[in-house]
Amino acid sequence: MKVLVINCGSSSLKYQVFDMDAEKALAKGIAERIGIDNSIIKHETSEGKKTVIHEILPDHESALELMLEALVSPKHGVFKKIEEINAVGHRVAHGGPYFSSSILITKEVKDKIRHLFELAPLHNPPNLVGIEAMERLLPGIEQVAVFDTAFHQTMPKYAYLYGLPYEFYEKYKIRKYGFHGTSHKYVAQRAGELLGRPWESLKIISCHLGNGASITAIKDGISLENTMGFTPLEGLIMGTRSGDIDPAIVSYIMEKENLNIEEMSDLLNKQSGVLGISGISSDFRDLEDAGLQGNERARLAIEMFVHDVKLHIGAYTAILEGLDVLIFTAGLGENGIDIRKMVCTEMDTLGIIIDEEKNKIRGKEAEISQEGAKTKVLVIPTNEELMIARDTKNIVLTR
Ligand code: AMP
Repeated sequence: MKVLVINCGSSSLKYQVFDMDAEKALAKGIAERIGIDNSIIKHETSEGKKTVIHEILPDHESALELMLEALVSPKHGVFKKIEEINAVGHRVAHGGPYFSSSILITKEVKDKIRHLFELAPLHNPPNLVGIEAMERLLPGIEQVAVFDTAFHQTMPKYAYLYGLPYEFYEKYKIRKYGFHGTSHKYVAQRAGELLGRPWESLKIISCHLGNGASITAIKDGISLENTMGFTPLEGLIMGTRSGDIDPAIVSYIMEKENLNIEEMSDLLNKQSGVLGISGISSDFRDLEDAGLQGNERARLAIEMFVHDVKLHIGAYTAILEGLDVLIFTAGLGENGIDIRKMVCTEMDTLGIIIDEEKNKIRGKEAEISQEGAKTKVLVIPTNEELMIARDTKNIVLTR
């Protein structure tokens, strides 16, 4: 079975094709600057055939059309005809309270995704645009929605409710949803495979540390807590997002700086985090370089991030009543040797002791804990696309 996975962002679109009989990626690509100038599609097959397409991409549908052309191109394609695609899986950011697992896309499902635009104004609209464009381009081919929030729908009510008047939960569905669920679930399952134990038997803390970052507590194969909340703004200090702050600060800054709601939201989402603290970059590579050259605020930003990660690992160990496995994933988790070392320093009370030599790896699966340490520490590159393809296959086959 061949599955096409689509991840539509506001001005970009990532895709990957899998042969799910062998769980093998066949081709992948990215379209960038959709609806802007200088649009570009970068496409490559697993055999290393690459092409870059410079074409005007006024909308997602035109990008998807070119993607389909690339997939059947005699030069750099992987199919003879487009009908070889058996199913399409879509990443959808917000499933709200409606979706606790992936689902075959129907009109009702699309209505609910649309209904959730309010909760995820940057993500759900382009996700739905991608779904409807693919319905037009590949009529009759089944499509599945895989939600970033679904894995966290198992969080207990006392964990997902905020201390606000209950009516706001009832009226507006204001609650914690949690994000990066597909990634957290993938690495947790993979940890079980790597350790040769059922993942449902392990107490796991998964740290998805990228430009957006979140941590999840997993026990009995379900998510008990995630640091992100009603939106991805909550939790850890991130690349450009503030993470947790006292909510009273919001109205205080708005008043002092005479900001409107949009400007305040922009400040919290795009100008804060380690970018806001360091004043130089949201990228940890830049911060590490600047820190080495003596930039105090770059060092401070890194220290704040590390402090936040440690804080949540401690809290989640308490909730899990112990810890068997700590996982690092996403750009920084997979590649940030120094950050991993800092997070794991003086954590032996939680059984976390890493082997500094083993920790010197980037972007590949490895156990980095010391021989005999109580908690296994693993680096596992995430693969959200494969998870989406797996869910898509399972849903289409068992329908
Ligand atoms: P992601 O959002 O998962 O793509 O992760 C992006 C983040 O990963 C960037 O902000 C970088 O700070 C971090 N990152 C990627 N590669 C490295 C690296 N080699 N060393 C340190 N950090 C890295």
